[in-house]
Amino acid sequence: MFSLDQHLLNWVMEKPRIKSSLFQFVDVLASLDRSSDVLDHLRAYFDDTANPSKLPRWIRWGLRASTMRFVPDKVVAEAARFSVRQLADRFIAGSDAGELGEEIERLESEGFSISIDRLGEEVAGEQEAEEYRWAYQHILQSFDDLPESEVARTHQRSLSVKLTALDSQFDSLARQTTLQRLERRVKPILRQARKRNIIVYFDMEQDSTREITLELIRRLLGDDEFADWDQLGMVIQAYHRHSTRDCKKILKWCENRNKRLWVRLVKGAYWDYERIIAYRNNWDVPVYESKTRTDRNYCELARLLGDYYPTAKPAFGSHNLYSLSYGIEVARQEDMKPGEWELQMLYGMGEPIQQLLNERGYPVRLYVPYGELLPGMSYLVRRLLENTSNQSFLRQTFHDESEADSQYDSEVSDDPVAPPKREGYRSVGLQNFSKRSEIEEQRLAVDSIQKKYGNNYSLFIDGEWIDTDSTITSVNPSDSDDVVGRISRADPGHVGRALRAADEVFGDWRDTGHDERADWLERLGDRLEQDRRELASWVLLENGKNWREADADVMEAIDFCYYYADQMRRLAEGKQWSWPGEDNIYTYEPRGPTAVIPPWNFPLAILTGMTTAALVTGNPVILKPSSQTPIIAYQFVKRAVDAGLPEGVLQLVPGSGSQVGNEIVEHPSINVIAFTGSREVGLSIREKAGKIRENEDIMKNVVLEMGGKNALVVDADANKDKALDGVIRSAFGYQGQKCSACSRLLLHESIAETFLERLTEAASSLRIGPAADPANFMGPLIDRESLMRIQEYQDLAREEGEVVLEPDVPDDLPDGYYTGPMIVDRVDPDARIAREEIFGPILPVIRYSDLEEAIDIANDVKYALTGGLYSRHPDHIRQVKSDFKVGNLYVNRKITGAMVGRQPFGGFKLSGTGTKAGGPDYLKNFLWPRSVTENTVRRGFSPDEHL
Ligand code: NAD
Repeated sequence: MFSLDQHLLNWVMEKPRIKSSLFQFVDVLASLDRSSDVLDHLRAYFDDTANPSKLPRWIRWGLRASTMRFVPDKVVAEAARFSVRQLADRFIAGSDAGELGEEIERLESEGFSISIDRLGEEVAGEQEAEEYRWAYQHILQSFDDLPESEVARTHQRSLSVKLTALDSQFDSLARQTTLQRLERRVKPILRQARKRNIIVYFDMEQDSTREITLELIRRLLGDDEFADWDQLGMVIQAYHRHSTRDCKKILKWCENRNKRLWVRLVKGAYWDYERIIAYRNNWDVPVYESKTRTDRNYCELARLLGDYYPTAKPAFGSHNLYSLSYGIEVARQEDMKPGEWELQMLYGMGEPIQQLLNERGYPVRLYVPYGELLPGMSYLVRRLLENTSNQSFLRQTFHDESEADSQYDSEVSDDPVAPPKREGYRSVGLQNFSKRSEIEEQRLAVDSIQKKYGNNYSLFIDGEWIDTDSTITSVNPSDSDDVVGRISRADPGHVGRALRAADEVFGDWRDTGHDERADWLERLGDRLEQDRRELASWVLLENGKNWREADADVMEAIDFCYYYADQMRRLAEGKQWSWPGEDNIYTYEPRGPTAVIPPWNFPLAILTGMTTAALVTGNPVILKPSSQTPIIAYQFVKRAVDAGLPEGVLQLVPGSGSQVGNEIVEHPSINVIAFTGSREVGLSIREKAGKIRENEDIMKNVVLEMGGKNALVVDADANKDKALDGVIRSAFGYQGQKCSACSRLLLHESIAETFLERLTEAASSLRIGPAADPANFMGPLIDRESLMRIQEYQDLAREEGEVVLEPDVPDDLPDGYYTGPMIVDRVDPDARIAREEIFGPILPVIRYSDLEEAIDIANDVKYALTGGLYSRHPDHIRQVKSDFKVGNLYVNRKITGAMVGRQPFGGFKLSGTGTKAGGPDYLKNFLWPRSVTENTVRRGFSPDEHL
């Protein structure tokens, strides 16, 4: 009655609309400890199904039983768990070594060889990575307890290793340190495997890990210690465009050195993921986009492996009969010996094919996953999707009974490599740092900028670069001995001249066609894009962002240029409403000279966004940069001018906020003030700008973006791996110095202990050091003053909560402004550290018992900037979307990193004036809307055609 097995899979295929609810329910079930929670989710996922009679019987029964008082919750919950466990049993060989051993014995007695895969959670910290290493070694040891088997004599047992499980800080940017850590953990595994003559395959995971995986295999093959051992295995994914090149490269290398290597050939399991990531980032798609092309490549690679036999020992992994037959034919043609080639299939998948091939005497190895159900869920859901997807050979063969093979179609042409083009604006995307070549180019740029340390830079007024005696010195926060540069400081005379120039040029700039201004902005976007590596280097050296954050800062700046250019063209079209006898025209006009006052924490992005929005809408700008990052401001202005700005349209006046800033803000010719920064300064600017003096006839428009105290709620049923990653990135990315940063973590009390344990472990594994070193996740704080302020908050935190992670930094760092992440548990929602914007890596944790309470706490601050929720409960997601009132709300993802045109950014309450940078309404802040109406009726006659 409760069987979810094949019967259910068949059923799901016929009802695709219920499929996603069912798989989401399966995904969350293992994380629900309490019976009442299981019932609650059952109802949330299935109660409002349009046609309940179409639901599987066990769900219908569960829903009905949950309303009957005499059926205890526990019975319904156990029934659901039992059903899902049955399904899991089909694809997962056991949850402990004992069950696994029994299954291996059974499979081997039937003539299958095996490769064991240990299912696990994503590793959060170095302790967990160590535990993984230990677990792999434990599997190898447990092979000793298995009885001798016929099949294992010819086809040794095997272990499949996931490298990302062995390093919590696996990062292509930290190539050398990642490789060192991996080697340290892999070698003991290999030693043990060699002693037992066990094959070790290194699984190939996402494209971002590909280069390091191949590099590690090459290093191990070249290591003298393993010179006499030839049971190492790699994986080649036929869907990958570089698979042939990778395969040839490594096999040629092996051939030249007389080495042998197992090569498991598969189609590839991360097809959707690779495409989504590539589309999002505007990267070349690394995988073939058509299945037919992948199938064809599979056959070509099988042939290649045949050509390289015996250097290559091929393992043809597939569930597609055509592909497997192709492998068999290659093995036959090359006369491959037993034990030197094999077929591989996944445990529980396409069993009739497994049986058939086994009975015909072909060497079939099963990839056997084992482990706890909870970490195994993502594996299970992937298998379920594969078994029920329309594209799947398995589905077509065993369910639809159609002729499924996609055939080896030699007519198919290669797909285009670039992601599909879309009309209008699209983000330029991040650099792809999983590619060594891109890392090298960025490295060269950093080196070249470091050579420019200590240069002098001018201020800029009315088209003239001006040097003054008084300068602002900008130092590298990673090492205060490094002077990044010195920039001329504007005195009151300069400020006055800048204001006059802006005032005088306003008429001309206003009358310059919007197309011309938008063209200029696109040219600027091109220029920033062309120099993106150089600009990212300035950001990481002057501002202390790590490589990825610096690159994202530059990306956002470029995106602003293209997005606002596009928006300007749209706005300029205006609107027209014609009524009988009446013409109505609605247009926008620039407001006038604009003061732009940006902060230091997005030194290029925010400055570019505010300045270009004002300029493209026809307003001359006086830009007062932050004193912490004036050189980046100079770099921007230089390029903006080079892109073709008339004299006087943009002025750069570095100086202190209280002097230069004040002077600009209060000046009568300033019409708009675009400010991003702290609440205190923002509110004081608003107050000053609000005063209308005797001779003034305008109200200044003040566009304010200020701080936040952003809560991230982690629900009891959240995917803990994803939540953990989201919290780490949101709270400690750029050392917590983002207005959007997670600065309050709200944890459901039922998961608080275990979640915090892992979070602490993960945070303490983060690498801290100079931003120029790409291996560092956390760099310095912006300056000494910030460091002292954060240290005061750290002292306060010790009073206001239970510190579970004390900030700690390595001893050997240069003289920069470093501190480590701090986590403080059991903080009262009214405590100062839970209410004030700290702007550093201090994370207060508040435990809550139900969602209403969490939302109340989250909303109960003076800010409303960003917020987030990790949950798999549909009702909770709905409730938070409606009741958690912030400018930018994120569900099941990190709460930082808003993208231009996708997540218009900005908050309300005391976080800002709700103006949404990077959104469709932003430019209107710099414009007056005008409505012009003409009565076209003359003496009873109207020229309207439609009358
Ligand atoms: P800040 O308020 O100290 O300085 C911001 C800018 O204002 C600087 O250019 C500064 O020189 C200038 N300034 C200072 N005093 C002034 C005055 N009296 N008159 C005119 N200008 C003056 O802020 P910061 O330290 O540079 O940046 C951090 C703050 O910015 C945080 O509070 C953060 O939350 C906020 N921020 C908000 C957003 C957002 O979009 N909401 C984005 C980034 C940063």
